[in-house]
Amino acid sequence: MTTTLITGANKGLGKETARLLLAHGHTVYIGSRDAERGRAAAEELGARFVQLDVTDDASVAAALESIAADGGLDVLVNNAGIAIRHGLDDAVDGPSVLSVFDTNVVGMVRVIEAALPLLRRSANPVVVNVSSALGSFWATHEPSRPASGFPTIVYGPSKAAVSMLTVQYAKRHPEVKFNAVEPGITATDLGGGGPDSHPGRPASESAKVVARLAEIGTDGPNGTFQEDDGELGW
Ligand code: NDP
Repeated sequence: MTTTLITGANKGLGKETARLLLAHGHTVYIGSRDAERGRAAAEELGARFVQLDVTDDASVAAALESIAADGGLDVLVNNAGIAIRHGLDDAVDGPSVLSVFDTNVVGMVRVIEAALPLLRRSANPVVVNVSSALGSFWATHEPSRPASGFPTIVYGPSKAAVSMLTVQYAKRHPEVKFNAVEPGITATDLGGGGPDSHPGRPASESAKVVARLAEIGTDGPNGTFQEDDGELGW
């Protein structure tokens, strides 16, 4: 059994991934930038809570220090993410782009760098980065894929960066399993969920592929981009 930290786990996909891992007997930290929402989710699920805002270096450092003091970390699920949308497209201006990249990309690097010393002490070090088909060259050019018909100037490129971070971290730290995941279009606050938009499937369903990757263990793949039916082409 492992100890797992999930960022942005107070709701949506992160919370449902926590629910699955807890049901499998793992210890799970609900990372949440808002203490009240995070504590409520942790209490509901029977998880631990840690305050963690991925855009704040001090918050990330304090969260990982507290997890280290409590016994360490085996698995990190980098799930926190945002998308700023005006209608179907992202807002395209400096502050919006910086905000999305700060959360989705730089935030991920902050958490990985703070977690690596703990992960290296684990016998089962695994990192799952929640990416998106909207960041895939292949999926955005493949007419059968929803990603090919969904314009996104900011969010998609931020997820392309997430996927390439995964590849590069996997090469740089082969002792840790790094994989990216496309969870599927999911009815969450970020994913839409309105009756006239693409409602997506329930977060409890999409969380299964994230939880599966979190549980790959030492024999699992490294540096890949996965979805439900196996590996997604680039
Ligand atoms: P939600 O909006 O439901 O959840 C996003 C989570 O990220 C929330 O807990 C939110 O916290 C948290 N978060 C945002 N900013 C920060 C921050 N600075 N620090 C810490 N936590 C933060 O969306 P999803 O569950 O859909 O998204 C989860 C991941 O899945 C994201 O990375 C998203 O890009 C990805 N994804 C989602 C898809 C979908 O269709 N839904 C498809 C492909 C990928 P708070 O409640 O405080 O805002």
